[in-house]
Amino acid sequence: MKLFDVYPLFPIEPVKAQGSWLWTDDGKKYLDLYGGHAVISIGHNHPHWVAALKNQLDRISFYSNSVKNSLQEKLAEKLGAVSGYPDYSLFLCNSGAEANENALKLASFVTGKKKIIAFKKAFHGRTSGAVASTDNPKIVAPFNAGHDIVFLPLNDEASFISAINQDVAAIIIEGIQGVGGIQMVTDSFFQLLSKKCKEAGALLILDEVQSGYGRTGKFFAHQFSGIRPDLITIAKGMGNGFPVGGVLIAPEIKPWSGMLGTTFGGNYLACAAALAVLEVIETENLMANAHTIGHLLSDGLKKFSLFKNVRGQGLMIGFDLPETHINLRNDLLFQHHIFTGEAKPNVVRLLPSLALSKEEALLFLHSLTQAL
Ligand code: PLP
Repeated sequence: MKLFDVYPLFPIEPVKAQGSWLWTDDGKKYLDLYGGHAVISIGHNHPHWVAALKNQLDRISFYSNSVKNSLQEKLAEKLGAVSGYPDYSLFLCNSGAEANENALKLASFVTGKKKIIAFKKAFHGRTSGAVASTDNPKIVAPFNAGHDIVFLPLNDEASFISAINQDVAAIIIEGIQGVGGIQMVTDSFFQLLSKKCKEAGALLILDEVQSGYGRTGKFFAHQFSGIRPDLITIAKGMGNGFPVGGVLIAPEIKPWSGMLGTTFGGNYLACAAALAVLEVIETENLMANAHTIGHLLSDGLKKFSLFKNVRGQGLMIGFDLPETHINLRNDLLFQHHIFTGEAKPNVVRLLPSLALSKEEALLFLHSLTQAL
């Protein structure tokens, strides 16, 4: 059997990884400033994370969500404390798309409505239809039975005010748009969404799948604006490479038996990985590091007059390349052995480990000068 050919692949195969570095079979070493789409939060193969997974493998790796699992409770408690949401509840799943599906479904269940407001250039994942084609009315929310989604321009207060009304179940918005090219949401726009959602009885869903988990210097990007969303979705950096996702759910939202469900979500290995990630974020002060090294990188990038609109927060950084330098990412990879990310058509995205060191950041800036 061949692989279904859907991914454009670089002809490079990493076989070993540690911290911010990857190695290929022939011993070549690459600096990773992309973390496989923002997944590597505490650094590749962090020893504490490896030990936690090995320790769990020696005990039990899987049973279904039909038995008590105190690792899930431990994870929820730790996540509540580190994120600043101790009064919220946690639903565990396996990916960012699943987290968003569950959040949309929850909003639709709670409000009994199906209309969703989303934003232009948003990316929330690649699932749909699984619930809609399931023949069990108990798990099909109105939203699942017929999508009704309107896309508005980001940060456009007037168009939002005219779109929000009593028919809306939820607004879904990223903390910072990632795949859309590192587009920042203004504090005043977040505050307006929060206020108008309350007035209209709609739920505010903050997709922090890419921008969360300490990447911006705060645990969640939306925390710079002081709002408290009804639902917050997480994945990517949560497991540092072990697939795990979740939804943080405001205390006003009450569960009922069977409301949500999953086979693999919250399995022992995923919980062990996710707990280890939070422990390392705390003990190694990685949010402070993301803030400091993020500033160093952004300030350094702003000195290159060639790069337009250097933007972002902490270690979620984007900048625009001019048409004349569209090959820069390939040059960095093949000549300087540095992985970066992109957003179409010409944005370079940096999403390194939150443990990126000053030396590694300076090495990147130096290599950029050489590449140019
Ligand atoms: N939400 C955001 C903001 C994302 O960036 C992504 C993935 O890039 C997703 C959701 C989907 O996550 P996953 O690929 O884990 O389903």
